Amino acid sequence: MSKLPAALLVGFFTMLGTLSAFDFFYLVLEWPGSYCDAATSCCYPQSGKPASDFSIHGLWPNNLDGSYPENCDPSRPFNASQIGGLRGDMDALWSSLSCPSSNSEKFWAHEWEKHGTCSEKILRSQRDYFAAALRLRKSVDLLGALEQAGISPDGKSYALSLIKNALQDGGYAPGITCNADDDDSGSSQLYQIYLCVSKENLEITPCPRERSAIDRSIMEAGAPSDRRILRFDCLLDCIVSGSLSFGFNAATSHGFWGLAA
Ligand code: 5GP
Ligand code: 5GP
Repeated sequence: MSKLPAALLVGFFTMLGTLSAFDFFYLVLEWPGSYCDAATSCCYPQSGKPASDFSIHGLWPNNLDGSYPENCDPSRPFNASQIGGLRGDMDALWSSLSCPSSNSEKFWAHEWEKHGTCSEKILRSQRDYFAAALRLRKSVDLLGALEQAGISPDGKSYALSLIKNALQDGGYAPGITCNADDDDSGSSQLYQIYLCVSKENLEITPCPRERSAIDRSIMEAGAPSDRRILRFDCLLDCIVSGSLSFGFNAATSHGFWGLAA
């Protein structure tokens, strides 16, 4: 082989390696009632009414500097036949609340194509990727940790510090995001919890210290009037009130949940 093609090949594989390199995963869990609030509408998945518990948004490879790889391998589109045996758990723990009502595959395809294809160095197949997220979700009990501190999904407001302490006491040191209510009440809802996962042993791990620098930069970039979902520690909007509502609020969840289940 001449020197030039060999060098090109090395360059190509180095580039691939760089593209899919990352430092840790975020396991992002979301509160379904708050997704309904953040989205303009929400619909039951075809598998039925979701449980009143945190569900999976995604398992995302991430870098310490806050950057992350995405859409790493267009040659490997989502293939539902590869997750056949996981279907029941996927429907129970990772269903899609977007409208129109669906079998959730579009959501799973999005998460696989955007994030899963970048995890391939650690989670080599689609089955490995989804199975890892399900196992991790089953290994945590955020509701239990919150309940221990007297925080239940009853639509009441709880101090952000109380929520953080409850999760920390439960052994989690998460990032928390909130959304701003649609109803102009100015209140915010607990929306997502970001847990960190070691890529070495695929277990929940304390989030890297560097994250606080990222939080600060996001905080500076955010504008309180902006209704987009605010990242970590419920910046700005949440700081205004210092508390978050938690539950299924019929008024702000577009009547979707009816009475809190
Ligand atoms: P949002 O702007 O709603 O926070 O995020 C939109 C999407 O960008 C997320 O659903 C996710 O796919 C991706 N994303 C946002 N923040 C992060 C992050 O910190 N790490 C990774 N890996 N992806 C993110
Ligand atoms: P991300 O924000 O992860 O890049 O993108 C999530 C995509 O999946 C968005 O296009 C969102 O509309 C769609 N989606 C479908 N169902 C759900 C759901 O139940 N929760 C969330 N967070 N996104 C969903």
